[in-house]
Amino acid sequence: MKIDYEQKEFMRKYSKARNAAFREKGLCPRCGKKTDGKYLCTECSKKHADSQSTAYQKKKAKGICVRCHKKLTSNDHVLCEECLSKTNEDSRKSYAYFKSRRICTRCHKEKAEDGHILCAACLEKCRRRT
Ligand SMILES: [Zn+2]
Ligand SMILES: [Zn+2]
Ligand SMILES: [Zn+2]
Repeated sequence: MKIDYEQKEFMRKYSKARNAAFREKGLCPRCGKKTDGKYLCTECSKKHADSQSTAYQKKKAKGICVRCHKKLTSNDHVLCEECLSKTNEDSRKSYAYFKSRRICTRCHKEKAEDGHILCAACLEKCRRRT
């Protein structure tokens, strides 16, 4: 067990050091090509972004709910009706929860201002946007 752990630790440090070395030289740690100051080269970062979003896009294109991955979605939604109503319910619940506790319903961190459902900072942000 101990050896296993040490080995893992070594691999972790090693790959960290390797990444840092590549980075220092301005090289992509994935393919070793030169990057333009970024962590990954353009090609690899594109690939990375693609792989992140393809699954989502595929489901969306097929009209499969991106939340439960089971049911078909209706209209232009990315969620099925069930998940849609669940999300609505969730947000309604949390809205009521924060409102009743007089906590800002936008950031959920600060105290809401008197007579408002938002904190001073969020009020200011909303005001500036409109
Ligand atoms: Zn690369
Ligand atoms: Zn669903
Ligand atoms: Zn706020």
